[in-house]
Amino acid sequence: MNQRTHSWIAIRAIALLEDEGSEPELVELLKPHARMASVGAWIPDDADAKRGGAGASTENHVLKMEPYHGAQTERFTTSKDFLTEHVGSHRVTAQYLKEDATLNDAWWAVPYRGDVPKPGQHLPNRIMGLSTMMKDLLLMGDREVDALIPGDLRFARYLHDDIRTAAAAAAAYYFMLSHFVADICMPCHCDARKLSAYGEGLHKELEAHWSRTVGTAFEKKNLCVDQGGLSGSERKADSEQILAMARFKDDAFGVRFSGAEIPDLHKGHDIWLEAIHLCRASFAIASIIAPCDQYPYGDKNARAPFDTVLGDANPELMAAIDHMVMHDAVLNTALFWKHIWNKVSKE
Ligand SMILES: [Zn+2]
Repeated sequence: MNQRTHSWIAIRAIALLEDEGSEPELVELLKPHARMASVGAWIPDDADAKRGGAGASTENHVLKMEPYHGAQTERFTTSKDFLTEHVGSHRVTAQYLKEDATLNDAWWAVPYRGDVPKPGQHLPNRIMGLSTMMKDLLLMGDREVDALIPGDLRFARYLHDDIRTAAAAAAAYYFMLSHFVADICMPCHCDARKLSAYGEGLHKELEAHWSRTVGTAFEKKNLCVDQGGLSGSERKADSEQILAMARFKDDAFGVRFSGAEIPDLHKGHDIWLEAIHLCRASFAIASIIAPCDQYPYGDKNARAPFDTVLGDANPELMAAIDHMVMHDAVLNTALFWKHIWNKVSKE
């Protein structure tokens, strides 16, 4: 997804949390910094953030699945019932997969595994790593952050204020996390076929389609004032207006939020396992967009151009993908955010 889309998803997630109403303190932390989401949610893909090679590859923005031929068949096979139950009916992706008839029993019976470039280098690990660090950084919050979290920080009196996490910094970490959570929902990020690689006719075009729908209003230059690197998140529009603008975009994607309480992770999941299941669901969606009987997994020459499989050629599937990806990217962002917040503030 492109910068504007990541920006919209993060801002819309704040609005969703505000509308849901269960975590007013978390909204209080994030909302004043809403405009900064246009920078923060894009940091992980920003070329400048790859300085020194720390984020030199985008490989841990993906977990690309493919058929698995090893001995651990059981471990890498998930039935349709199991996956849709573990993804949960609050997600449009699970609702869609439940109804779907294009992926047959034979497809679900195959074990699939991520094509991981180096051991551990994949999207759910990145999400787990960042989430774990965020809990620690929130616990070390400055007075403003600390006032939002119950309990005492008895060690804090021995610390200089400067080393405690400022509210704006905490908000920035939340926005960075939203980037990875949104990346899970992009089907091409979870499909190891060459046709899902960037620049092969589908991935880039699908992202450009979303970017056009989001529009320029969510670009950082339109939400933040360029301060020459000093305080680039100074206000242009106020947070109330920015959140309203984000809600207004729902129609363009055909998104309807249920109004139900944002649930926690599936029982028995940690952040890592929840993310793994979401990647598997995203891979299933990629396999509906470009069906494997037409575009076999092993075929390096197969391409599924956007204009052939989606776009005007397939308006019904296009509308379903828009709704599912954007609804779930926003819901997942709010859900992971809320989970981390609850870990710090309730246990
Ligand atoms: Zn990314």
